[in-house]
Amino acid sequence: MPYTDLDRVDLPYSGETFDYVIVGSGAVGIMMGVELTRKGKKVLLLESGRIGEHRDRQIDNEVVQTGKRLENAVWGRKRAVGGTTIAWGGQSLPFRPVDFSRRDWVSESGWPIPFEDLSAYYPRANAFMQIDALDYHEDIFKMFGLERPSFDAAIDFHFSKWAPEPDFTKVYARTLERDLQVVYNAMLTGLIPDGNGRITGVEVSNHAGRRQSLKVNQLLLATGGIESNRILLNNRDLNGAVIGDHSGWLDAVSWTTLGFRPVSSFRNIPMHSSDSSTPMSAGDVNIRNAFHSPKPISRSSSC
Ligand SMILES: Cc1cc2nc3c(=O)[nH]c(=O)nc-3n(C[C@H](O)[C@H](O)[C@H](O)COP(=O)(O)OP(=O)(O)OC[C@H]3O[C@@H](n4cnc5c(N)ncnc54)[C@H](O)[C@@H]3O)c2cc1C
Repeated sequence: MPYTDLDRVDLPYSGETFDYVIVGSGAVGIMMGVELTRKGKKVLLLESGRIGEHRDRQIDNEVVQTGKRLENAVWGRKRAVGGTTIAWGGQSLPFRPVDFSRRDWVSESGWPIPFEDLSAYYPRANAFMQIDALDYHEDIFKMFGLERPSFDAAIDFHFSKWAPEPDFTKVYARTLERDLQVVYNAMLTGLIPDGNGRITGVEVSNHAGRRQSLKVNQLLLATGGIESNRILLNNRDLNGAVIGDHSGWLDAVSWTTLGFRPVSSFRNIPMHSSDSSTPMSAGDVNIRNAFHSPKPISRSSSC
């Protein structure tokens, strides 16, 4: 079915039940939506942007990093059906084991999972992007009947691969229009918790600020690293605790490590509990960090 524009109609699914509500129709949201639909699940995809890139939607991406407005975050992420896949290159380059290791000379390095936990999914991810199953080293030489260069062992090399069509809305147009329900101009503005720590509903707003709520069974946030943090940090469970921040790392990573603070959110709808139309100063960020961080992190890095 064609996409639904929440600026033109009311949320048509108030009485309906979906197995999954996915928020964000970018690389992650579309992949999860398509995969779940293939498994016979009923999926609703909510997207804050509209079809194609528009300046009036991009401003919802504004963030302040250590006191300065970060233009890369505004234009480097796309608020549109398809998310950033409407602009990305579609390059598919896997991590390497060293990326997961703790390195003494890299602050906060080391992942809580090993490389093997992720690498098992690379072939599936590449297949989704219509990329071949060749490895990134020897296979390409074999394909061209070439000898591997005789570098010494200290020199590593790899090839890179690219999706033939990077825009997921084009690759999966039929599935998105036929099997999923896609609603755009639909900004998630709130999570509705029950007393057992579960999210049972969401509040969604169109660009005129008209809010509607929707029951959810399973909610998947696919709004990207910055926005997912913003959504979680803006919402509280019934005990007043930030949803999903039991470890304290959500706040620590957003505000301390990256120094990010999203400023304008969605047409006068504050998304952060301490949000205002005035950007925070770097000093404000430090005060907030000192209060929320599980441990001090002095580093600040760029996007
Ligand atoms: C020019 C460019 C080139 C790139 N090239 C590559 C590349 O070659 N290879 C690579 O791996 N990566 C590349 N990237 C990075 C890549 O695009 C991102 O890492 C990827 O898109 C992240 O996927 P995502 O689904 O998390 O976020 P996105 O694709 O950004 O999707 C998030 C979606 O969530 C929506 N959303 C956000 N908040 C809300 C809300 N509150 N309610 C409803 N919807 C919301 C947004 O509008 C958006 O549609 C590139 C990025 C850029 C800008």
